[in-house]
Amino acid sequence: MADARRPLMAGNWKMNLNHFEANLLVQKLAASLTEQQLADVEVAVLPPFTDLRTVQTAVDGDKLNIEYGAQDISTHKSGAYTGEIAGFMLEKLGCTYVLAGHSERREYHNEDDATVNAKVKAAYASNLTPILCVGEGLTIREENGHVGHCTAQVVAGLEGLTPEQVKRIVIAYEPVWAIGTGKTATPEDAQEVCGEIRARISEVYGAEVAGAVRVLYGGSVKAANIASIMVKPDVDGALIGGASLDAEEFASIVRYREHVAR
Ligand code: PEP
Repeated sequence: MADARRPLMAGNWKMNLNHFEANLLVQKLAASLTEQQLADVEVAVLPPFTDLRTVQTAVDGDKLNIEYGAQDISTHKSGAYTGEIAGFMLEKLGCTYVLAGHSERREYHNEDDATVNAKVKAAYASNLTPILCVGEGLTIREENGHVGHCTAQVVAGLEGLTPEQVKRIVIAYEPVWAIGTGKTATPEDAQEVCGEIRARISEVYGAEVAGAVRVLYGGSVKAANIASIMVKPDVDGALIGGASLDAEEFASIVRYREHVAR
């Protein structure tokens, strides 16, 4: 079953890069990878909203085999919600993915599981694939509550979806203590939680659905550590922050099969 899951490397650019810089980065990234590498591993970038049109033009114009998406989506369809971006707008820009529940949204914008679930549903309503982010803070990890915390976030995020929708979702396990800190979870830590997430999905939606869902690891991923994470059976790719802002480093992560796992 694991062979059916094409690895996904998704770069979360966060609040970095203007549209000129975004264009340069996406072109450089594509030029650093062969057609075969881009066929073997799905590559996606998640730029700020203001860069999406530029990324769309670059991808369509040069027929780049790179997907793209947004970092957030409104729970509302349209209307008087100043500053919000609706799903239909992202769909029109050709987005494939949208993040839901990134820890920075949960922490700085008080997004709870109900809001994250509404964002997941808004994504499906506009034919976007949500990347549902879950993860524990340091205190929960130290109290050994990480598995229960993350699997509960997954179940809450998927609430009300059909099994077909769940099959298509991407889940990103990102221990909050490892994001942007340089501290990576060990490959065994990543496998433990990614495996438990898949097991929980299997309990709720069945083995076929669980076997189709891609579960990514995220948190200080770089070229030097990706190979050892990707050998784990329940890790299907990575959500990459800082390292995705450097075309060479990101491309090297995509080429993880050429590295020796340490
Ligand atoms: C992220 O923001 O999703 C992330 C994993 O960041 P970093 O790779 O910089 O830790």
